Amino acid sequence: MNIIDKLLERFDPLVQAERKTGGLRKRYQDKTGIAKHREWRGLKDTSYDYYRWLVNVGSLGAFVAKSPVRITKAMFRYRWMGSYLSTLHFVDRGLEGRRGPELRVGHMHFHAIVDHVTKGLYELLRGDERFGPNKYSDRMVAFDETMPPVFLGGFPNLIPMPVQTFPEFLICNLDQHLMPHYIDQVEAYGVPADVCSRCAAEAGVATEDDYPIFGKCMITSNMPCDGSIMTTGFQARRLGLPTFPLMLPMRHSEEEVHDYSENQIREAIEFIEEQTGEEYDWNSFFERASVLNQQNAIELQKWDLFRSPYSCLSGQTQSLYRLFYWASVSGASKKFLEIDKKVLEIMEECYENKYLPYQGKTRHRAIIWSTAAVFYTDFPTWLQNCWGINVIINMDSTMGYNMIDLEDKDKALRDVALLSEKSTMRHHAVGGYENVNMLWELAEQFNCDMVLFYDQIACKGMNGVHGIFEDEARERDLIFMWVEHDLQDPRTVSRQEMREQVNEFMRTVLQEEPLDETLVDFDDSLSW
Ligand code: SF4
Repeated sequence: MNIIDKLLERFDPLVQAERKTGGLRKRYQDKTGIAKHREWRGLKDTSYDYYRWLVNVGSLGAFVAKSPVRITKAMFRYRWMGSYLSTLHFVDRGLEGRRGPELRVGHMHFHAIVDHVTKGLYELLRGDERFGPNKYSDRMVAFDETMPPVFLGGFPNLIPMPVQTFPEFLICNLDQHLMPHYIDQVEAYGVPADVCSRCAAEAGVATEDDYPIFGKCMITSNMPCDGSIMTTGFQARRLGLPTFPLMLPMRHSEEEVHDYSENQIREAIEFIEEQTGEEYDWNSFFERASVLNQQNAIELQKWDLFRSPYSCLSGQTQSLYRLFYWASVSGASKKFLEIDKKVLEIMEECYENKYLPYQGKTRHRAIIWSTAAVFYTDFPTWLQNCWGINVIINMDSTMGYNMIDLEDKDKALRDVALLSEKSTMRHHAVGGYENVNMLWELAEQFNCDMVLFYDQIACKGMNGVHGIFEDEARERDLIFMWVEHDLQDPRTVSRQEMREQVNEFMRTVLQEEPLDETLVDFDDSLSW
């Protein structure tokens, strides 16, 4: 430790927590969660963190500079647009308490997302016909965000654009207060209140007329579940584009359904060709598929390292990045591949040096199953900092990772179908008993001693099988904890109430004490 770190260590919240003189929550204002100052992490890590903060500010500045007029108009037109101002706060929340390699890989992942999102948002607003006719909109293909767009790489002259990602899904990660408005609106419109809040919010953005207007045609999807079919109807009617419903089977673990899925992808390609006059370019598709293959190959190497205690990548920084590069980028950016290579290098170095992340304070290795609360993406960060629960892997990180054939066109389409069938949330919601039961296999594979099962109260897929899961966990001698939430609606179960469920379990069932007392009970109800 250098002399400056020694002199200033009393300002380090991790040291304060150990000495019981403070902790990570101390620097925040109550309720709003606004930080009074940045976290002191020692000279090297604080400088690195600050430098990365500036890099993210640079990406946001470049975004505004590209089209200030459209962006200003969008700020006034779209309710969700202003929530992007909380981006830096979101990154800070996710990396709280991180030091050394955990901080580095976390920042690399977050910056990749921030940079890609600002570019994607710019493209979206550039093509938005609300702000005047433009030549880009006709080159845009709107698609459902649950359908990985790797196959759209065969249309190099077109711009694939996910419909829900920017106005709904991604922004709910940043700002917990946004979606309740859309949920209320669609309920006022007549949709029953027991529908999943994600589906309700997506439909609410449509009834509120808050989707940008763009595109030549649209690919909708029934994934992951039946709730999606309801919301897709609202979106398709609102956007009013020629639409191809790309329907993938619910029982996707069964061999005989894959012919159907493959054919759906083939028909979607033909539909886009008809609508846009573009011809499918197989070389361009293979190039994009090759990037995704390489990323998936690295992902599996990372998983090998997750099995050891020396992995510096876990929790939110792992799962959000995986979700993003799989579902949104899907091979379109070589930058993500470069980041994967660098992160893998850092991870291998940690493994060789037997580096224990989080100052060796991990007490439990958890696998998270079922759908995560989108309004509380940094929940795993809190789990580690408060209770030493290291989230090794999250259900949605196990989305399709099969390789796509790079020579045979039919085989390639079959592989795209297999990959897409395992889209986000499809491990617990649909697919049958065997699919859901993969949880136990993965818990063993990743050497987890704990299962944290999200009880998404409006996701009907798993309601009614609580007892079966508890029995299975008991048989395997795994610690099993339920955490209730309502996906995108923090009014039903707040962030604080989610934490309380963990606090109670850890204190009464496991009889453990927290690592940081300041994190046990606090109010962040007014925070983004
Ligand atoms: S949380 Fe459940 S109900 Fe909601 S979209 Fe996902 S699978 Fe469907």
